[in-house]
Amino acid sequence: MAPCVQQGEGTVMSGAVSVADMVHDDFRSGFEHAGVGMAFTGLDDQYLRVNHKFADMLGYTVDELRRLGPADVGGKEHATGWPQRKRALLTGASREVTSEKQYVRSDGTTLWVSVVTSLIADDSGKPQHFISVIQDISARRAAESALRESEEKFRQLADNIPEIFWITDARQRKLHYLSPGFETLTGKCLADVLRRPRSWLQVVHPEDRERVRLARKGLPQNEYNIEYRIVLADGAVRWVHDQAFPVRDANGDVYRIAGIGADVTHRKEAEEKLVYLAHYDGLTGLPNRVLFFDRLQQTLAQAGRRSTVAAVMFLDLDRFKVVNDTLGHAVGDDLLRQVAQRLSACTRMGDTVARFSGDEFVLIVNDLHGSEDARHIAQKVLLAFADPFRVGGHEIFVSTSIGISMFPSDSDDEQALLKNADTAMYRAKESGRNNFQFYTREMNARAMYRLNLENSLRHALDRGEFHLHYQPKACLHTGQVTGVEALLRWERPDHGLVPPAEFVPLLEDTGLIVPVGEWVLGEACRQIAEWRRSGHDPVAIAINISARQFASRNLGELIKRVLDEHSADPRDIEFELTESLLMVNTEEAVRTLTYLKSLGLRLSIDDFGTGYSSLSYLKRFPIDALKIDRSFIDEIITNVDDATITRAVIGMAHNLGLKVVAEGVETEAQLSFLSANGCDEAQGYYFARPQPAAELTKWLGQVHRRPSPSRQGVKRA
Ligand code: C2E
Ligand code: MG
Ligand code: MG
Repeated sequence: MAPCVQQGEGTVMSGAVSVADMVHDDFRSGFEHAGVGMAFTGLDDQYLRVNHKFADMLGYTVDELRRLGPADVGGKEHATGWPQRKRALLTGASREVTSEKQYVRSDGTTLWVSVVTSLIADDSGKPQHFISVIQDISARRAAESALRESEEKFRQLADNIPEIFWITDARQRKLHYLSPGFETLTGKCLADVLRRPRSWLQVVHPEDRERVRLARKGLPQNEYNIEYRIVLADGAVRWVHDQAFPVRDANGDVYRIAGIGADVTHRKEAEEKLVYLAHYDGLTGLPNRVLFFDRLQQTLAQAGRRSTVAAVMFLDLDRFKVVNDTLGHAVGDDLLRQVAQRLSACTRMGDTVARFSGDEFVLIVNDLHGSEDARHIAQKVLLAFADPFRVGGHEIFVSTSIGISMFPSDSDDEQALLKNADTAMYRAKESGRNNFQFYTREMNARAMYRLNLENSLRHALDRGEFHLHYQPKACLHTGQVTGVEALLRWERPDHGLVPPAEFVPLLEDTGLIVPVGEWVLGEACRQIAEWRRSGHDPVAIAINISARQFASRNLGELIKRVLDEHSADPRDIEFELTESLLMVNTEEAVRTLTYLKSLGLRLSIDDFGTGYSSLSYLKRFPIDALKIDRSFIDEIITNVDDATITRAVIGMAHNLGLKVVAEGVETEAQLSFLSANGCDEAQGYYFARPQPAAELTKWLGQVHRRPSPSRQGVKRA
């Protein structure tokens, strides 16, 4: 019986044992021209016969290949894998063995093939040789490797990006893939969600859940692009931007939905911050101008409906600039924050405290019955400023000036209400600060006047419109003139002399006080020199320094320079400072004053008694004299309190080694009281009014000639 080729289960061929006989003619042609590679291999692992296809696949001729044998072209795998397969065939463990391996071609390149090998036995079952069918699988292998590579790339990307990447089946909504980004963001176990995809919705914020559910329901017809919140296990809320889009097959049918979700919390927070900053003041957290108008609009609408009254209160801190300039912006900022807190504490729920700019705050107070209620609140605000602010180790006294306009009596227009409150605030400043004023129609004219005044004031120095008047001071022990105070006057074209109370605050507000103050010092030095030149005895001149000037940088150097320029003797100059100016930055003030003293200048505290300082506080400063404020002297005869205070101040000042000067002495009775109580010097209309240098020179000459004691009781020093 001819041997048969066992291929799988079936027998396809039988014949003699010799190779030539192995293949019948009709089979031979099939073998030679088969579309797949075929080879007969002997039990000694030599090719008995190979077909064209196989030889072509490896780039050899049939003869060349046959001479080479499987060990030469079978690659490394032949040595390691074939013996095992061969054994399986020979022992009958397998009827057919299959392997995928790389053959080496004639040019040294490799080719992926699949080889199916069977054993051919003779009729008695004795193994004869092997037959292999070899198929080129390089295309499939390349496709598989490309797929693997792309899958790998996808995994690398999807597993490592912080975004959540997901893919679901379009029909069954089965979650195919969810990237680890989900676990990172939500803290939920990835495997759990893959098992129960619906649990995803549980992390979505309850308020956003329905929206997310509806968006998903619209898939795959409608793509979505939504933002929602998720809640983490610790309760923290994160914002997610989730975008889903359909994936289509070659026919254009949607078979998958892919999505990408990103944590956009930072962006959302930045957006919220922007919205916040657009409506709130970054420093104090109070509503800003924009939100203020919004609230005012609502308040007015509500007050209109309920027929109630509302008030707009415009506040400006008094001398805040001085704090800022001397103690620095950090302290200024801290002060503003504390002011914001105190103001908020003065108002009720539903009222608004807004910060407009710098040291300007505006209050909206609603549900009032009338202006009495507004007055009450304004008083409360002023009281809230009575205690000092503790900032950066300093105790700072700051007061505020308040302007009030009422709805509906002053206006029913938001802008007008604010403008009127602002105008009233200026009036409060002019009335000595630390008070409030209700808006009146006359104030508008006043505001216009002020604006004009400011404009003219800006040119006054260049145009030489300033003059100095001088008012003498006399010693109450000797009756001699001890010096004069230089008082600034402005000769405003077409208006005449403007009193300092009108324009000095404006000079301070605009900062013009710095150059004007320099001019005053220079002019005083010039006057001293002129008196000397014309043979008069030298008269010491006292010069006023305002808080703003004192806060300006390098005040000491500026003074020194001006004195040097005029070759002035520092002993002829005295500076008058207000006590409030010393209270802002004590250390800096002590430094400046010590420097001025070291130059040989004298220093006194002006308007003493109007500020908050105590005498013991003044001990820290190198000062020579106190000038008791005019307001005490005014009623010293009629008011027991004023008399007592004056007496006490004189006593205590003497204990501290300070000279005492009384300001604004107008009557003989006042003079006698002061004299009797040991006051050292006095100044006032009783002796002489402030007057131009020429008149004062004349006056001094007369005093000198008149025998003492006269009505003036004054002799020239
Ligand atoms: P002050 O330094 O307290 O000046 C005294 C003020 O009292 C002066 O007012 C003076 O005219 C006034 N006066 C003097 N004796 C009497 C009196 O017997 N009765 C009354 N009723 N008043 C009297 P003035 O000249 O209007 O100056 C007002 C304020 O303007 C000054 O108060 C001072 O703080 C400020 N000032 C004046 N000149 C300058 C200046 O050159 N620089 C600065 N920074 N401030 C100045
Ligand atoms: Mg003065
Ligand atoms: Mg004074």
